[in-house]
Amino acid sequence: MSYKIVFIKVDDENPLIRFPPLGLGSIIEYLKKNTNAFDIDVYDYAIVSDLKNLLIRKYKTEKPLLFCLSSLLRHYKKVYKLSSFLKTYFHDIPIIVGGPLVTSLREKVMNIKHIDYAIYGEGEVAFYEYLKYLFSNWTSIKSVPSLIYRDSQRVVVNPNDGAELDDFSIPMPDYESIHIEKYFKYQSYEMGGLGKYIPLMTSRGCPFSCTYCHRTFGRKIRYIEEDKIFNAIKQLTNKYKIKHIAILDDVFNINESRAKNIINGLLSIEPDFYLSFGNGFRADIISNDFIDFINNRRKNIKFISFGIESASPRIQSLIKKNLDIEKARVNIEKISMSEEIILSGNFMLGFPTEKREEIISTINLAKSLPLHSASFLRVSPNVNTEIFSTLPVDVQNNIIKDILNGELDTNFHTYTINLSELSDFEINILQRHAILSFYSSKRRVYRIIKSMPLAMIFKQGLFYLIRSISGRYKI
Ligand code: SF4
Repeated sequence: MSYKIVFIKVDDENPLIRFPPLGLGSIIEYLKKNTNAFDIDVYDYAIVSDLKNLLIRKYKTEKPLLFCLSSLLRHYKKVYKLSSFLKTYFHDIPIIVGGPLVTSLREKVMNIKHIDYAIYGEGEVAFYEYLKYLFSNWTSIKSVPSLIYRDSQRVVVNPNDGAELDDFSIPMPDYESIHIEKYFKYQSYEMGGLGKYIPLMTSRGCPFSCTYCHRTFGRKIRYIEEDKIFNAIKQLTNKYKIKHIAILDDVFNINESRAKNIINGLLSIEPDFYLSFGNGFRADIISNDFIDFINNRRKNIKFISFGIESASPRIQSLIKKNLDIEKARVNIEKISMSEEIILSGNFMLGFPTEKREEIISTINLAKSLPLHSASFLRVSPNVNTEIFSTLPVDVQNNIIKDILNGELDTNFHTYTINLSELSDFEINILQRHAILSFYSSKRRVYRIIKSMPLAMIFKQGLFYLIRSISGRYKI
């Protein structure tokens, strides 16, 4: 006999981007490797319509043993409402929550009284140990890593010792359990129009120290075994005729020899694969040899994104990114020689103490680089990041209070707190100026039309541009 567990990814209904819940897929795969005691159903708000009625219909007689919600911070209110709904209809079934919501808020997530447990950070080991505790009492609650729970009126946060998997035990997500095929008809995260795609993380962790980053997977970089990756992609390709692999490692090019192995291994499975790197390359550490390697595979490598953030050396140092701008410029220019790879830059405006001249120099840098696209995001300090901890305590408290009251949408497109030396009006004008002046270059428009798939230009490009300029998305 197996026990039913229901996973729900909390998201917007009909969002612009529907992204498969890879984290849940990894937890499920890890669980399956360790036990066959559980039968798992997975739902995604973004994919399933009328989810609440479906849950009532499906589980009113055969009740599951556990509901597990996974959520971003910005869906706090939705988690509140969904957990309240679940406790109304399934009052004796425990609810556990995980994902970036918990990693950001930690014990404060237990302000939602309907939630029984929460797990922060990496979830595979923690969830498995939690199930042992919950269903068999093999483990004491105090020894479940990363678990948050109530003990009488007190909220207890267990340390995360032992929660991080090593290179050999990080699983590939169980793509079938998360219904990967349902996402094919929606655009990929960064590149629309390249056919059926699989999002893929080949490593966890990042050794850099950007102060605005959550670094959910910690500083130590861990690599998933190459055979494990290739076997999973081979199976999916055989079954679904995959065309596009969207690689989402934090810094894929940190280990160039491994990066080459991964790219070559994927292309040996399917020589016509399109590859994209939406989370990006670090631009100042790319060797000439790796640039040649990339340019020689320009028919396959369709998209690379670079996190540049600021042109100001002072700001680079302040945010501990310490990107060498000149090296980054030279490398991006060399990659652009292929003319076929779509290059994108991410810039941030409004760092604490940032001055007008520094913002303008960032905009000028973006315009001067041979990029097809750029985003100019406003700096918004995420809870539980280093930059957040530098805010005055009353500002921190107000942000958390607004999130808990459901009054602050922390979508990075719309959530803005002005930390710079400029007025809100000035920084808003500069943001719009950045977009307009970046895209008004005839040379850039020519390169976009020449290189980008039409579906990408129309489905994503124009849509983002119009929303950005209109302020509907505050970029
Ligand atoms: S922003 Fe990127 S490079 Fe910086 S610490 Fe985070 S994952 Fe690493």
